Amino acid sequence: MTKEQTIEFTCPAEKCGEPVRFTLGVLEAKKPGVSCPACGKVQVLSPEAVEKLGLLEELIAALKKARPILGDGGVGVEVDGRKVVIPYFILLTRMTSELGLKVEDGRLTFRFAVETR
Ligand SMILES: [Zn+2]
Repeated sequence: MTKEQTIEFTCPAEKCGEPVRFTLGVLEAKKPGVSCPACGKVQVLSPEAVEKLGLLEELIAALKKARPILGDGGVGVEVDGRKVVIPYFILLTRMTSELGLKVEDGRLTFRFAVETR
């Protein structure tokens, strides 16, 4: 079993800007909302946003699980006519753990806390 990922975003309320943390498990299926611990503003996530966050969470979990083999393989890419192998481990640590998603009043960047070790 993998521990649930903590997801964080910056509260978009005026003069707030505090980090809001949550896990996908606490979202309600019907009206998934997260409230800011500092100002109480509730951010309602669309079903699409929840689905995309879930997909990124699964991807990160899969990468973590595959860590023991990440050092053994790589992806070959062609750069200036030369073949370069990028180890999977580099791909993992450089992978974006941020997701910009549309929310009720604009766009928010959600960050996943990914440990690289
Ligand atoms: Zn706030």
